[in-house]
Amino acid sequence: MTGIEIRHSLVNGSATEAANLVLPSNFVELDWENLDYLGWRDSHSPHLGYIIRWQGEKPMGIVVREADGPLSKRRMMMCQLCRATHTGHGVSLFSARRAGEAGMNGNTVGTYICANLGCSGNIRVDVPQASYYSDPESVLAEKVMGLETRVSGFMLDVMRP
Ligand SMILES: [Zn+2]
Repeated sequence: MTGIEIRHSLVNGSATEAANLVLPSNFVELDWENLDYLGWRDSHSPHLGYIIRWQGEKPMGIVVREADGPLSKRRMMMCQLCRATHTGHGVSLFSARRAGEAGMNGNTVGTYICANLGCSGNIRVDVPQASYYSDPESVLAEKVMGLETRVSGFMLDVMRP
């Protein structure tokens, strides 16, 4: 995936947003094998973030915006994409402008996501607990599958006309 492909992949971003997008600082050394989606916060516009994933042969991406106001520090919050739970500022409410006309009319889709948009890393940080029925590898595989399903569902919501 190249920077140009990423700029072109944004289905709900304006031309200005695509032009102003700042790639993650570690872009050249990303470990694509372990990324279920590529997500990062824009270092120049910290309230903006991006979620990019392969849709068949082509990358498809969305711009998300962090909602104003911090969430409660003490409450446990769950990321709706990877189902990781965090306290403090680990989870943020993000909204995505709907693609096309819906977006121009001000329609957005919102959900709680890991604040660093790093679900792929977050589900791999803690060695998944093996349960009575399954080994750690299949627990991780299950988490990956769930994450992919929910990310693509979220993106489809954004694209729904
Ligand atoms: Zn997450």
